[in-house]
Amino acid sequence: MTREPLFDTVGLIGIGLIGSSLARVIRRKGLARRIVACARRDSTLETVRTLGLADAVTKDHAEAARGADLVVISTPIGTNGMIARTIAPVLTPGQIVTDVGSVKQAVIRDVAPAIPEGVHFVPGHPLAGTEESGPESGFDTLFEGRWCVLTPPPGTDPEAVERVSELWRQAGSMIDVIDADHHDWVMALTSHLPTLIAFNIVGTVADMENHTRQEVIKYSASGFRDFTRIAAQDPVMWRDVYLNNREAVLEMLQRFNEDLSRLQRAIRWGEGEELEDLFRRSRDIRRGIIDAGQA
Ligand code: NAP
Repeated sequence: MTREPLFDTVGLIGIGLIGSSLARVIRRKGLARRIVACARRDSTLETVRTLGLADAVTKDHAEAARGADLVVISTPIGTNGMIARTIAPVLTPGQIVTDVGSVKQAVIRDVAPAIPEGVHFVPGHPLAGTEESGPESGFDTLFEGRWCVLTPPPGTDPEAVERVSELWRQAGSMIDVIDADHHDWVMALTSHLPTLIAFNIVGTVADMENHTRQEVIKYSASGFRDFTRIAAQDPVMWRDVYLNNREAVLEMLQRFNEDLSRLQRAIRWGEGEELEDLFRRSRDIRRGIIDAGQA
């Protein structure tokens, strides 16, 4: 017996790493009858065509949203408000709009006011990614075993939340539904702060004189290399994350700076026990991540 697709038409606005990975899952599992993909550049749309990721491609946001029972916005979050306002005139009651942005309160602030009555907005964030960008970098197992966090504002239609949840379940994800402010606070700690530290360390090296820089590259396997992988992520995406999760990131940075000063003190005064204690606790956290299957 062939199962009915979850959606008739999915409009993917933004078809980079995340959008194209979703397109691949939708294709492989037959989750929609038709995919319409939207991007800015001809070269991106050409790649999407060549890879067969969509049935139709367009540069027009509204064309991608018109008649789609699910619209997924997968562009840098700074563009989401503009995109919502552009597609609003063609949206009709019953359609579902979702997104994948790494910050949720700002996206809700920018998108929700534009969504017409009767159209369901279900904000989401798949906790999966790599340092690559663009449609060629996606793969259909990206979301497997990863969490997808949904942050529907109070009053969101539960059936719409369930349909979006089912899409992510089909992609292999586990679902959590939490408040947007809690999401942003947790992400500031687990994602935005560590990535900022990586950008900063790599930036420090980039500012060093050429001779030192060559040595850092030569001996990078001793630690630096892992930071460069994190810091190689898309600059526009991360610019938008920090500009849109400012409060939570600043709070985490404050705590980080205090803890770093404590470490600095421990090194200065030869307090080996304090250092060892922290390093032991760090190992426990790593073990916890491995045990949870998130390594
Ligand atoms: P990406 O690979 O750089 O792709 C971005 C896509 O958005 C491209 O197709 C780009 O089209 C398109 N785009 C940009 N501005 C646009 C506009 N004004 N109108 C239409 N399309 C536009 O980015 P990504 O990694 O998929 O990230 C997309 C979203 O996912 C971001 O909001 C990010 O916060 C979220 N996210 C990312 C990760 C991750 O690890 N990468 C993880 C979870 C969530 P062109 O190629 O034509 O410019």
